[in-house]
Formats: sequence, structure tokens, C-alpha cells
Amino acid sequence: MSDTGAKPGPEPSERTAIGITFGNSNSSIAYLVDDKAEVIANEDGDRQIPTILSYVDGEEYYGQQAKNFLVRNPSNTVAYFRDFLGQEFKSIDPTHNHASAHPQEAGETVSFTVQDKTGEEEGPSTLSVSEVATRYLRRLVSSASEYLGKKVTSAVIAIPTNFTDKQKAALVAAAAAADLEVLQLISEPIAAVLAYDARPEAKIEDKVIVVADLGGTRSDVAVVASRGGMYTVLATVHDYEFAGAALDKVLMDHFAKEFIKKNSGAGDPRENARSLAKLRLESESTKRALSLGTNASFSVESLADGVDFASTINRLRYETIARTVFEGINRLVESAVKKAGLDVLDVDEVILSGGTSHTPRIAANLGYLFPQNTRILAPSTEVTALNPSEAEARGAALQASLIQDYEAEDIEQSTHAAVTTVPHVANAIGVISANEAGEEVFVPIVQPETAVPARRTVHVSAPNGGDVLVKVVEGNTHIKVTQPEPKAKADESKAAKVEDADDSDEEDSDFSDEEEEEEKREKVWKIGSTLAEAAVKGVKKGGKVEVSITVNSDLSVIVTAREVGGKGGVRGTLTS
Ligand code: ATP
Repeated sequence: MSDTGAKPGPEPSERTAIGITFGNSNSSIAYLVDDKAEVIANEDGDRQIPTILSYVDGEEYYGQQAKNFLVRNPSNTVAYFRDFLGQEFKSIDPTHNHASAHPQEAGETVSFTVQDKTGEEEGPSTLSVSEVATRYLRRLVSSASEYLGKKVTSAVIAIPTNFTDKQKAALVAAAAAADLEVLQLISEPIAAVLAYDARPEAKIEDKVIVVADLGGTRSDVAVVASRGGMYTVLATVHDYEFAGAALDKVLMDHFAKEFIKKNSGAGDPRENARSLAKLRLESESTKRALSLGTNASFSVESLADGVDFASTINRLRYETIARTVFEGINRLVESAVKKAGLDVLDVDEVILSGGTSHTPRIAANLGYLFPQNTRILAPSTEVTALNPSEAEARGAALQASLIQDYEAEDIEQSTHAAVTTVPHVANAIGVISANEAGEEVFVPIVQPETAVPARRTVHVSAPNGGDVLVKVVEGNTHIKVTQPEPKAKADESKAAKVEDADDSDEEDSDFSDEEEEEEKREKVWKIGSTLAEAAVKGVKKGGKVEVSITVNSDLSVIVTAREVGGKGGVRGTLTS
């Protein structure tokens, strides 16, 4: 990121730094006010600012105003360009650009041709995607500067975990051309975790978090281990099929069919570019309304062939017709957990971020996928959840305020490990202790996926005192499955159930059917190989033995054991 040839940024004392999320569909800007990260509304009052530029009579529009021009001025409106930065034409997917300015091949990069000036003699301009990004970022920064009453100089920008070095460099260069210093690029899921962990009520504890970032054109899922305040990304998956645009499409097809049925003389609104644009905008707003209410209206003037159209849809019906997309999202989350080598039982929290995460059905489905004590952090499942459209921008703003006083070189060093994949221990390390039944059980001290170096200490009770043998072992979890008792009688009502996707009163049965007896799955520790045995002699009756485990960066382990309050102790080093 520093290798862009950009001019040096401002002195730390002269910086005003914000957090930015720069999405394919929407962007946000956030700033820290009194230790609280706030997402800033632009001049139009929008906090989710569509990542779109539009040119009309030489004027540049951005955000929601530009989005509205997708109906009347699509060829001079540039949308869905963020993912093209730093990419060659042959590797981009232009699916979402068919209803706006089309991407073209331009040497090593991608460009768009738009009429961005007025005057007879002025022809259209061909803008590289970098130029488009620069113009857009300039508008974002100007909105933030106007709001804050001072010039924004710097930013932390959240980016997808699969951005290549070329994409990162292109983004930093596009920002530099907009006179914006990029303090750091942080990954979107880590930004969301930072925002959650910064809440006053948050307990920083060892946990495994799944971040499902569900946007407009893509869904990205990351599995993150949080150990002692360090974050390690264990696995990521990316999908470009099951995201917000797919849900829009479901509603577009639904209303188009209804329109055709009711207006036999009129054509299919999906076959005319302008009608299609209107259909898409209104379907999206109906979809958003269905996240809040159980009913939503759809109304478009002159939808096709001059015929107006108004209708309504209820949430149950929507959930039925959109079921394939919802199931796809569940599968995606499940596959990320598998890819991390974990089980759903290992997951403590699921953070839902991105606009599509407002959808109550998605949060409910994830609730059924994970065990009951896994927290599903979404607006419909947890009142204290952050707004999913704002979490990442807030996290980026928190990080910006944390590092803005550092010199550029120090920023790289001080924060690199916290936000990238770092070496970590695969298995847990702990001691063997006896439970109430006198059986040997594993007591974890260093959790699996703990980033190293790490040091953890526990106190082990020694009720009988004397010579206490401390056995340090590796531990790993396995899932114990208990099958339910077979039922005496088959559930006939269930057997008679008929699948009918068109029945609007039918519940989404796969996920919401709680009646069914399920097999019981629980996570249990398995004792692995012994790493060390230490004898602490002459411990007082009812005393305690302190066991400290240090795992160094080369994964070698130092174990110390001593009586709490006593003298001496045992210390040993094990090589990895
Ligand atoms: P991407 O980069 O994947 O295109 P993004 O990160 O730029 O997405 P987001 O704002 O996170 O954009 O997500 C945009 C999607 O979220 C759109 O499909 C939008 O319709 C959807 N969305 C926004 N608000 C809601 C809501 N309240 N209910 C359901 N969907 C919503």
C-alpha cells in the first residue's frame, strides 16, 4: 500500500481522519465523536451512499441522486465499478453494468465512456475506473469535510478480504489522486468486529466469530478467532450469486408477472430498458420495506406502455419466493465454518453486516443453523445489534482515530498483525484435572487458534495438597452426537404436508420447523498428546498451583508451575 509513488501525506498533527467503506453498491463515511463512531450523512441526508456517479448537462451527481438517473440517463451513469479497480478487462464480471455505462477494455485497465461535459464541441470522455473511483472518493471526502467543518485529509478504508495487492494499490492511488491519504486498508470483517468490540458493553474475551457481510452484489463470509484482543482470520468464502441483487431479481420477476397478468395489453416491463430500471428501483425499495414491516407496497407510474402499476406483498410470500437465495446464504455461512476446520458449535457469535443483513429471515435462518447459545447479531434478533449497514464504517473510523497520530511507517508495523492472518496454535494447550466424578478432564489454558506469541495463566486447585503432578497436554474438540430416542408413532401431519411454493401462507418449513426431534450435538474436549509433566512439591492443603503457558512465535512452549504464594516452582521449555 505504501508503494504507490504518491506524495507524502500530511503530518500526523495535521490529519483529520475518517473511516470509509467503499462498496460496489454503497459507501459510507464515519468519524469518531466523543469516543463514539458515528456514520455521517451526506448533503442528501444519506448514510448509505450509492457508489454511483451520473453526468447530466455537464453536472456531476453522486449517491442517491445519481442512482435515480439510472432510469432517465443510464448511459452517462457509472455504477458497480469498485471491484474493477486494479483488474484487467478480461477478469471482470460486468453482469451488474448492463443497465448503466458499460465497462470497456482500456489497455491494462477498464474504462467507461460518458458525456461528462456540456458544449457542442465537447465529445464524450473515456474515464478509467481509477478516475471514476477518484471522482467518487472526492465527493465522499467533500461530504465528510462539509459535515465536519474541516478538511478531511486521511482515511482507513475497509476492503474485502480477497482484494489482491494490485486492487489495493489501485485503490490507494485513486484515493491519493483525490488528495486522500490512506492510513490503512483493513479487511471488512475485521472492521465489523472492531465496531462490535468497541461497544461499552462488549467483553473482550476469547471467541470465534463468523462475520457474514451480505451486500448488494456479493456476500463475503469470514471466520475470525479473537484471542486476547488479537484477531486471526481463519477462513473466508466469497459469493457473487446470493446477495441483495438476487433478492431484487426475485421481486422484479414477481411484480413483472403480476403486471402482465393484470394488463394483458401491456408488454413485459423486463423487456424495455427504462421499464426494467423502474422495476428494479421499486423492487429494491419494496424489499427494504419488507425488512421492517410484514407488508409492503409496490407502486410505479407508467411501468410499461404508459400503464401505472400498484401492488402489495407480504413478508411470508416474499420469504417463500426468495427461499433459494436465503438457502444459498445459509450454505455459504456453513461452508465458511467448515473451511475453517470448525463446527457450528465452535462459533460464539455471528455478526451480520452489509445492507442485506437487515433481512429478518436471513438472521432467523442462521439462528437455526447455529446452536442456541451462539449470538446472532442482527437487528431482528438482538436489540443491541449495530446497524448492519454501518458496522464496518464505524470500525474503520475507530481504527482511523487509533492510528492517525502515528507516522506512516509505524502504522504498518503497529497494526499489521492485528488485522491479518498471523501464526496461531492449531490445538488447545491445557492441563488434566479431575472432575467431580473423579474422571480425568481437559482444562484448556491456551485456546486453539490463539495467535502467537501468547501467554496464559490458570490456577489449579489442590484440595489435598502434597506433591501435585501437573500434566500439560494438547487438547482438541470433537463433536459428540446423540441420536434422539425413536418416536413411538410417525408424525402423520408432517407426512401429509404438500410442498407448494405458490402458497403464500406456507411457512419456510426447512428452517422454522422446531417440532422435529433433532439429534443432540455437543462439543467435547479430547485429551491429546502430553507436552510436559511437572511435579510441584509440598503444596499446602487446599492450596493452588499456578500454571503458566507461553507459546513463542516459533511455536515453542514454556511451561511454569508453582504453588500460589509459595516459593520455587518448575519451569521447562518444549520445542515445537
Ligand atoms: P456490494 O459491494 O456487495 O455490492 P455494498 O457493501 O456496496 O455491497 P451494502 O450497502 O452493504 O452495499 O448492501 C447493499 C444491499 O443491501 C442492496 O442490495 C440493498 O438493497 C440491500 N439493503 C439495504 N438496506 C436493506 C434493508 N433494510 N433490507 C434488505 N436489504 C437491504
